[in-house]
Amino acid sequence: MDLLKERIMKDGTALSDTVLKVDEFLNHQIDPELMVEIGKEFKRRFSNKKIDKILTLESSGIAPSVMAGLEFGVPVVFARKRKSLTLDDGLLTADVYSYTKQETNNIAVAEKFITPGDNILIIDDFLANGEAANALIHIVKKAQANVSGIGIVIEKSFQKGGRELRDNGYHVESLARIESLSEGSIKFLDEVTN
Ligand code: 5GP
Repeated sequence: MDLLKERIMKDGTALSDTVLKVDEFLNHQIDPELMVEIGKEFKRRFSNKKIDKILTLESSGIAPSVMAGLEFGVPVVFARKRKSLTLDDGLLTADVYSYTKQETNNIAVAEKFITPGDNILIIDDFLANGEAANALIHIVKKAQANVSGIGIVIEKSFQKGGRELRDNGYHVESLARIESLSEGSIKFLDEVTN
């Protein structure tokens, strides 16, 4: 998605060889117009899929997911991060190790929001090692629902998540794929399609 790549080049910062900061438009300040375009692009890329609901993770997955939800005309559910292991009643839960924060969070979705047979599009802001996506897949499976696809705003293709998810048969669409962040320079994977 050229608009997104241009914005990453303009406002993104390679904090290290592995971490990209995009606080200007996605992770802290949010650009609503860009989010609208991201929602349309997800709709275009998953137009042949049956999607009943979108599932994401708080907080940075919410903005792109809501815009996609508007395009598909479906509700958006976000998994909540929980620090303490309080009552699990009526909850679908999974553990996620956060690569950027170096901590494990337990995430939870109320059972009533994902029901057996639902076709779920998973969306997240970043894909790195696949921890977040796999935890969301785990929740969908626990609910006996189906994963229709995985939509990612920014994939860091040099980390293993995208390859593993595709090898496992999931339809992954990433709107920008980064090949490298070495020496402070952001390089995209050259490709026409996914
Ligand atoms: P994964 O779970 O695939 O290892 O990493 C994805 C999650 O970690 C995303 O939900 C995102 O919040 C965070 N993340 C991973 N890499 C980056 C990065 O380079 N920049 C930012 N801003 N977040 C990242």
